Amino acid sequence: MPIKAPRGTYDIMPPVSRSWQVLEERLKEVARLYGYQEIRTPLFEYTELFERGVGEGTDIVSKEMYTFYDKSGRSLTLRPEMTASCARALIEHSAHTGLLPIKWFYYGPMFRYDRPQSGRYRQFHQFGVEVFGSASPMVDAEVLMMMVQMLKAIGLKEYRLHLNSVGCPSCRDSYRQALLDHIKPFCKELCPDCQQRYQQNPLRVLDCKNPGCHQAITGYPRLLDHLCADCARHYQRVQETLKGHGISFLHDDQLVRGLDYYTNTAFEIHIPGIGAQSAVGGGGRYNGLVKAIDGPDLPGIGFALGLERLLLAMQQNHTLNQHRNGIEVFVAVMEAQYEDIAISILQELRAAGIAADKDYMDRKARAQMKYADKLGAPLVLLVGDEEVKAGFVTVRNMTSKRQVAISRADLIPGIKNLLQQNEEEQA
Ligand SMILES: [Zn+2]
Ligand SMILES: [Zn+2]
Repeated sequence: MPIKAPRGTYDIMPPVSRSWQVLEERLKEVARLYGYQEIRTPLFEYTELFERGVGEGTDIVSKEMYTFYDKSGRSLTLRPEMTASCARALIEHSAHTGLLPIKWFYYGPMFRYDRPQSGRYRQFHQFGVEVFGSASPMVDAEVLMMMVQMLKAIGLKEYRLHLNSVGCPSCRDSYRQALLDHIKPFCKELCPDCQQRYQQNPLRVLDCKNPGCHQAITGYPRLLDHLCADCARHYQRVQETLKGHGISFLHDDQLVRGLDYYTNTAFEIHIPGIGAQSAVGGGGRYNGLVKAIDGPDLPGIGFALGLERLLLAMQQNHTLNQHRNGIEVFVAVMEAQYEDIAISILQELRAAGIAADKDYMDRKARAQMKYADKLGAPLVLLVGDEEVKAGFVTVRNMTSKRQVAISRADLIPGIKNLLQQNEEEQA
């Protein structure tokens, strides 16, 4: 039996890989417009980082991590997300002693031992941002505006932004008690996980993916009604700023993140019409995280977009098909003796930034034209007796079938002209 890719993983094959490149380029470009710089961290970290930075009570840490021991017996884990790694890098490099706020973006594979299902993989990709050092609600608003602009940049104009505030540890304390009192009479109806964890952290019940748990506690008290004055003002300011700049959103009481270091703004973004798993990204403020892993008391906020989901949404919204893939000019050799001339022409084109190729399978002239057509080359350059002797090349436009002669001296400007003309005709 031939070996296959491990369960829950997959290959990104051409031409789909071109769509990935386009997606990455556009997201990076928006991040650049907002003043973000890229951070790259290792694919694995000491397990302890995620236990403390993601939280031992979470599904990610308790069930979904790829944890292994290296040859020296150290426990390592493939990163299940990036926020903890970013916070670790910040502390390790004392980045907070430089200019604040720190604005980072990242892109890459994450790993979770999850049950593979459609659109969900064990190695999946995220594009995300983190801002450290500012607790301003204006940063929350800017991060959300950027997220929306990223979706627009990849052709996704319709979105549903869910927003909530989870307050701060002090206002959450009073809420926790109210929630605990509400849940207690119904605790027998909760799933086994929730029965175990609700006493310690009743917010986790709101977090639970099990719909039965939500049903059991309907009419639960709202976190919004328990926010302290500072947290209420913060949330108010975020909402006003979004409204003032045309970002629509809906307040969502169920959007909670049960861990202590999460504070204030929490959000999720959905694309309508891509199925039950419509969330393509989410994030929030985590003012307690850096301190929780022994760093300075530094506020932070971030989000991550799931790229598999984004691509799915792009496919369904037909924003993927126009990505041209492959070469711009094919050089067809009419006589084998002109191979070297063809290669000089190819190198000249490539040096000028024009993607070009030729045949390497000993195809006859006619088969070369067919091959060029299959490659999708808009222009084919013919190199034959006549051309070589008189010092020109014949250029055929593969769509219009028009042919023109360009002298070798004018090759590059001539080809660039024709490529541009062709592009204008296609548009
Ligand atoms: Zn508060
Ligand atoms: Zn539950």
